Parts: sequence; C-alpha cells; structure tokens
Amino acid sequence: MDFDVLRAQMVDRQLISRGIRDRRVLDAFRAVPRELFVPDELREFAYEDSALPISCGQTISQPYIVALTIESMNLRGGERVLEIGTGTGYAAAVLCQIAEKVYSVERIPSLAESARDRLSRLGYQNVLVSCADGTLGWPEYAPYDAIAASAGGPRIPRALSSQLAPGGHLVIPIGLESSSQVLVRVTRDGDQFRQEPLADVLFVPLVGVEGWEDGELELNGGSMREK
Ligand code: SAH
Repeated sequence: MDFDVLRAQMVDRQLISRGIRDRRVLDAFRAVPRELFVPDELREFAYEDSALPISCGQTISQPYIVALTIESMNLRGGERVLEIGTGTGYAAAVLCQIAEKVYSVERIPSLAESARDRLSRLGYQNVLVSCADGTLGWPEYAPYDAIAASAGGPRIPRALSSQLAPGGHLVIPIGLESSSQVLVRVTRDGDQFRQEPLADVLFVPLVGVEGWEDGELELNGGSMREK
C-alpha cells in the first residue's frame, strides 16, 4: 500500500473537503505517518474516515475530528500545548508539528509507555508524556497556551480551565450521555471563560476525578456522530 498517497488523499477528501483550512494543520497531517500509530493488523485502514480501536478498549480518533480540534486551538507556532488522552500518540505527533512543546497525559500506563516509545522512535523530541489523571491537568508546566482533550467528560474540568493561559483555547468533548456529546471550545478572557459548540461527536470516556468514574459509561470513540 502506498501510504503517502493515502495520506494525501485523506487530507484532501476528509479534511479540506470538510472545511479545514489552516495550512499549518494541513501540513502537519501531511507529515505524520498515521499507519505507524494504529495497531499492525489495522494498518491498511489507517487512512479510513473513522476512529479505529487500539488496545485497552480505547480508540485512535477519526482524522477529521483531530483536525477540527487542533484547528480550533488556533495555533500559530511556538505554543506550549497540553493534551489529555495520549492514546497512541497520534494527535500528540500532529501537535508536535505545529507547537513548540507538547505535554500529553494518559491514564493507562501501557498506553502511556508505548506512546512515549513510539514518539521517541519517530523522532519527536518536543513532547513529554505523563501517566496520570489528566482531568487534573499537568500543574507542573501550567499555564498552557492551548489544551485539547481526546476523551469526553460530563463537565469541563476546573483544573483544565485554570491551567489555560489568557486568550488560550481549551477544546474538549462534553456530554452527559453518549448520544449527546458536543466538542466545545472554551476561551479564556481574563477570569472569564467563553464557550462555543463546535460539533456533535462521540469520544471514549474521560475517566478521572473531574471526569467519569471508572466503568460508569461506555462510549464509542472520537468520531462524528451519525445523524
Ligand atoms: N489522542 C489519542 C486518542 C486516544 S483515545 C490518539 O491520537 O491516539 C482517548 C484516551 O484518553 C484513551 O487512551 C484514554 O485512556 C485516555 N483517557 C481517558 N481519561 C483520561 C484521563 N482522565 N487522563 C488521561 N487520559 C485519559
């Protein structure tokens, strides 16, 4: 399979055609080999227009949703970014192409470890992966110019809003039911937080102190919701 061709087609047919315009974001997607982030046996599906299962019952999100999330962070280069839910490290790698430094938090130890290895093997040097509850953010390096979560919770974790720099954006799926998650962008303006809905989505649960309790909810995974 010619993954370079499939990657270019994915950018044209799934991202540009749906309105992703930011050149930095499109170039980042052209650069990251998604086939090296999905499980070996699913490699041929790496550029499908969907989320795919990874280990531990988690998913790698649909490319378009990763792109929408990152474009909505309005990165111009040079930012320090926090990501919650490293999973395979794919979204972290895309962020590495644009931001100066990426801090990524994953709660499942085996996923955190394999993402760390994979990112290092692929030469990404501007990323740190921590194994912890990301609903508490990563206080040590706060504030962040932008924050993205790739798992959905019932409400916006306070720690994430408070670790956002002035003018920064937090993009996170929020919803009380699997059928009604909305990708929300929170923008910090001084001590005020403005919220905008971006899209209806389906993400795996954000499990933690300011998220769902373990086993409370089963969701489907980082894709657009079927209407
Ligand atoms: N961005 C990932 C998508 C992973 S799916 C990728 O590109 O592959 C979402 C991930 O969020 C899962 O790996 C899940 O374990 C993780 N997660 C869920 N709740 C979390 C929490 N409180 N803190 C950190 N990670 C969490």
